[in-house]
Amino acid sequence: MNKREIMGLDLPELQEALMSLGLKKFRAEQVFRWLYEKAAVSFDEMSNLSKETRALLAAHFTIAAGEVRVLKEYRSADGLTHKVLLGLPDGASVETVLMHHDYGYSACLSSQVGCAMNCAFCASGLHGFVRNLTAAEILAQLYYFQNRLQKTGDRVSRVVIMGSGEPMLNLEQVLKALDVLHHDKGQCIGYRNMTISTCGVVPGIEELTRQGRTINLAISLHAATEELRNRLMPVNRRYPFQQAVAAADAYEKMNGRQVMYEYILLAGINDRESDARALADVLAHRECVVNLIPANPVPEKGFARPDDRQVDRFFQYLKKRHINVTVRKEMGKDINAACGQLRASMIKEAKA
Ligand code: SAH
Repeated sequence: MNKREIMGLDLPELQEALMSLGLKKFRAEQVFRWLYEKAAVSFDEMSNLSKETRALLAAHFTIAAGEVRVLKEYRSADGLTHKVLLGLPDGASVETVLMHHDYGYSACLSSQVGCAMNCAFCASGLHGFVRNLTAAEILAQLYYFQNRLQKTGDRVSRVVIMGSGEPMLNLEQVLKALDVLHHDKGQCIGYRNMTISTCGVVPGIEELTRQGRTINLAISLHAATEELRNRLMPVNRRYPFQQAVAAADAYEKMNGRQVMYEYILLAGINDRESDARALADVLAHRECVVNLIPANPVPEKGFARPDDRQVDRFFQYLKKRHINVTVRKEMGKDINAACGQLRASMIKEAKA
C-alpha cells in the first residue's frame, strides 16, 4: 500500500484522515501538536498515543521531516549559518539555510526544486526547473532544523521563502505550509515574522493581496530600467517591473507592511550612480526599504561583486534621496550560501 504524507495536513484534514482510520477526532489535535509544535519526526515519539495507534498511523502515513536525508551540509566559519542540502524521497534535492541572528533563528526555505526564472546572476536555475515542492516538503525543511534546535530549548522564530524557486508559482503550497507554522497549536510564528520573496510575478502578488495575510513581501528588483532588467531577469519581459511595483503598492496598502526591495549589486552592471538614480526615482515616496546585496559570485555566471567602496557609494546615494536602505549582512559567504550553489555543485560533481 502506498503511504500518504501526513505533514502539510491542516487540522480539519488531519481529523478527517484519522477518523477514516477509526480513530477519535481529538486524536487529530494530539498528532497535530506532535508534528507541528513538538517537531516529531516519527510516530514512535508520540507518547500519548497507544502503541497500537502509533503502529496504525505508521502503517498509513509517512512524516516528511523524518524522510529527508542530509546530502551535504556546511557551517560558516563564524558558526552562524548552517546550510543543508536535503534529499527528498523521490531523489530530488533542495537547499535550506538556518541563520542565527541576534534576535533568534531564521530559516530560509526553498519553494521549488530548481527554478524556471533563469535570472542571469542566480545559481538556483542553473540546472533548470524540476518541480514544485509540496507543503510537506516545505515544512520538512523547517522541521529538520526545529527538531534539533528544540533539544536546547531554541526555536526557529522567523521564516523567509527566499531559497531556490519562485514562490508565487507555487503559492498554494507555500501558504499552506506558512499557515501551519502560524497555527497556535503549531509553532505560532506570526505572519509578520514571515517573508515571501518574488522576482515580480504579478498575478501571485495580486493573489497574496486578495488573501489578506500580514506576511511581508520582498521584491527582487535588481535593476530599475526596463532595458537592464530585461537583460538580467527574463521575468521582466512578461511582467515589466513597474507592474510589479504597482502590485506591491496595493499589497502594502492592504496590510500596512513596508515592502522590501532586494537589489543585488553586480560590479559594473547595476552599481553605478546612474543605476542608483534610476532606483531612487522608482522608489522615492514609497513605503519601502531597499536591501542591497553585494552579489555572491556564481562561477558559472561570471558576475563579480563590487568592492566595499562602490557598495558604500550606492548606499549613500540612496540615503541622500531619503530612501530607507540597508546593506545585507553577509552570512555564510564562505559556504556558498547563495541560493542554489550547493545543489549546483553537487550536480556538477555527480556529472564529473
Ligand atoms: N525567486 C524568488 C526567491 C528566491 S531568490 C526571488 O527572486 O525573490 C532569493 C534572493 O536571492 C533574490 O533576491 C535573488 O535575486 C537573490 N540572489 C540570487 N542569486 C544571487 C547571488 N548570486 N548573490 C546574491 N543574491 C542572489
